[in-house]
Amino acid sequence: MTPVRFPDPPDGFGWQPLGPGEPLEVLASRRFPALHGFTCRVRTRQPDASYLGIRDRMEGDLGLLERAAGIQAVHALRQVHGNDVQVLRSAARPGAPAVGDALVTRIPGTAVAIKAADCVPVLLADPVSGAVAGAHAGWRGTLARVVDAAVRALAAEAGAPPSRLRAVIGPAIRACCFEVGPEVVSAFRAAGHDVDRFAVRPQAAGRPHLDLVLANRLQLLAAGLPEHTIEDTGLCTRCEPAFHSYRREGPGVGRNWSVVVAGTPTA
Ligand SMILES: [Zn+2]
Repeated sequence: MTPVRFPDPPDGFGWQPLGPGEPLEVLASRRFPALHGFTCRVRTRQPDASYLGIRDRMEGDLGLLERAAGIQAVHALRQVHGNDVQVLRSAARPGAPAVGDALVTRIPGTAVAIKAADCVPVLLADPVSGAVAGAHAGWRGTLARVVDAAVRALAAEAGAPPSRLRAVIGPAIRACCFEVGPEVVSAFRAAGHDVDRFAVRPQAAGRPHLDLVLANRLQLLAAGLPEHTIEDTGLCTRCEPAFHSYRREGPGVGRNWSVVVAGTPTA
């Protein structure tokens, strides 16, 4: 097994333990007001560290996330590339995961875990109520405005104006690597997205590339989050071998976890 090189964190981010429990190194923002992190292919940078995000071991990963964060319940979804938002009403993890692409919780000590391998993970938090959300936005979810739906649901659950919410965007495929067919650009245009702002054509004769992160940033801004409350890891999953990437590895690829834990209200 070749050791995984952890990519240098961008300004304002660092690799650090998720929590006080079992060692799990995650990329986290130093400013985001909730316990959170983005995993890579392995648990730690020790040469013998075991892998995580392996496709058929997702249930086991949730237990690891719980032990690492030192909390009782990490909730995941059966993600379907749509825009349905689920709101957690009970701390106990159900037998089968709820279906949707965004999850909100204001139950202190419960967490949301989003899995993605190129799709854009967006974590949200309200610093006052402690409520948090996670959203999974591939191109279909972005087209369907799942991040906008997540902001609205979190604001309602938290009793917060969207301007009070914070966001952090995890490792995802970036415009450098996300080539799409012209029909995808057309679908965004038909759905009323300002696609000319986030579709680029690196070569005059080539196929378009989408900047899905920018598309989701535009949704956050339009939903009412101020520019300075939106952070971005800036990392491309396809360029950085530390992360699972569908475009690089194909079907059967693992998933990167993005996890955020609800806190106790401060007011
Ligand atoms: Zn790239």
